[in-house]
Amino acid sequence: MSSYVQRVIQKVVERNPNEPEFHQAIKEVLESLEPALQRHPEFEQAGILERLTEPERQVIFRVPWVDDQGKVQVNRGMRIQFNSAIGPYKGGLRLHPTVYPGIIKFLGFEQIFKNSLTGLPIGGGKGGSDFDPKGKSDLEVMRFCQSFMTELYRHVSADMDVPAGDIGVGGREIGFLFGQYKRITALHEGVLTGKGLVYGGSLVRTEATGYGLVYLVDEMIRDKGKSFAGATVVISGSGNVAIYATEKVQQLGGKVVALSDSSGYVYDKDGINVDTVKRIKEVERGRIKDYVNTHPSAEYHEGTGIWNIKCDVALPCATQNELREADAEALVKNGCFAVGEGANMPCTPEAVDVFIKNKVMFAPGKAANAGGVATSALEMSQNSMRYNWTFDEVDAKLQDIMVSIYHNAADTAREYGHEDNLVVGANIAGFLKVANAMLAQGVV
Ligand code: NDP
Repeated sequence: MSSYVQRVIQKVVERNPNEPEFHQAIKEVLESLEPALQRHPEFEQAGILERLTEPERQVIFRVPWVDDQGKVQVNRGMRIQFNSAIGPYKGGLRLHPTVYPGIIKFLGFEQIFKNSLTGLPIGGGKGGSDFDPKGKSDLEVMRFCQSFMTELYRHVSADMDVPAGDIGVGGREIGFLFGQYKRITALHEGVLTGKGLVYGGSLVRTEATGYGLVYLVDEMIRDKGKSFAGATVVISGSGNVAIYATEKVQQLGGKVVALSDSSGYVYDKDGINVDTVKRIKEVERGRIKDYVNTHPSAEYHEGTGIWNIKCDVALPCATQNELREADAEALVKNGCFAVGEGANMPCTPEAVDVFIKNKVMFAPGKAANAGGVATSALEMSQNSMRYNWTFDEVDAKLQDIMVSIYHNAADTAREYGHEDNLVVGANIAGFLKVANAMLAQGVV
């Protein structure tokens, strides 16, 4: 490792103690940038890595709200605006009890490179709260979202920072957040993406991350003479990304045999029925184990173990660090030939090493799950134009973007001497555009 990269990593760890996810993301990216840094000594002189790893702005705020029993609850809200070199900050809001600045920084940092890779003019940011929407009534979620936006509105706008959904934030939450923003500012503007279709949302946004993941993985495996047709696929999670990845795999002729949630996983040897999962998760807000109620031939297993199921392609779509070294070894042993990260950083660094060593095709999250944010940027474009594209128009643009992200990452990897390593390719390709924009804009 060069002394420059080493120094920056050390400084980040000292400055941000007790934030292991952020350290992990920084190390993974900076170490892979070595070949680009060697070719561009001007980046060190301009302090590009020091600036990239320090968010431009971080806001942490109190979110008081009243529960259904009339008791006041207090959560912590935050928005981390990481880098605006190539466009307004863009990135989701996560509502989950594990949210703290270390998670939001890791996600915001990754978002810079992902957004750059889409080829669209969007910077990187992320936010959220330790509020747990699970088990809360609609009215409690609304009161929380209104209180959250009562502070957040000062820091966001259509041209400054445009949040979207993430874990725990779907159409319902975006609606409540948008309503409150509009009430406070009197502006009906594209300040959030993932909006409902009747008030400024884009067709395909709901499907975008899952569909985009499958478009990119499809291009990657077709490049090596494989295809989804007839392939057995295991997908973790059963939220937004997992559901639409399942749907697209099935449209391409693959068979998804397992899905999970944080309690356990279902295995259906006949192929998961995606309509049942949509009903359970999107309408009833139930658990994946409910799947066996209507599909008694499927099996439900409590706890982890989903990666021991034999498959050709694995798509981790749940959460960070959910696929570890032993899981990667089990997948390799069972003949898995491709892995695509639908979630952000779902594979630990040790698991990624196992895939790369064993020549398993591996698509890192910042390339593979960029379809969500890309379609969000298309939603921003439509809001600015006050115009809507059809489903097929947006879907075609999404597909083009995912195919070009794959080729950009693969070509960059080859150019920098790391053929077939999309981790290196995606990081360098995403980085160069942002670094050059920062150089052009002076010391800011
Ligand atoms: P959702 O909240 O819709 O779904 C998350 C799913 O993952 C739920 O089924 C959840 O189960 C499950 N899950 C959480 N933790 C675990 C665990 N430890 N083991 C197994 N399952 C678990 O979120 P999304 O689908 O939107 O997001 C999933 C991932 O994709 C996240 O990493 C997110 O950052 C990333 N992503 C999402 C984008 C989007 O557009 N939605 C865009 C790009 C990335 P449970 O209900 O039990 O918690």
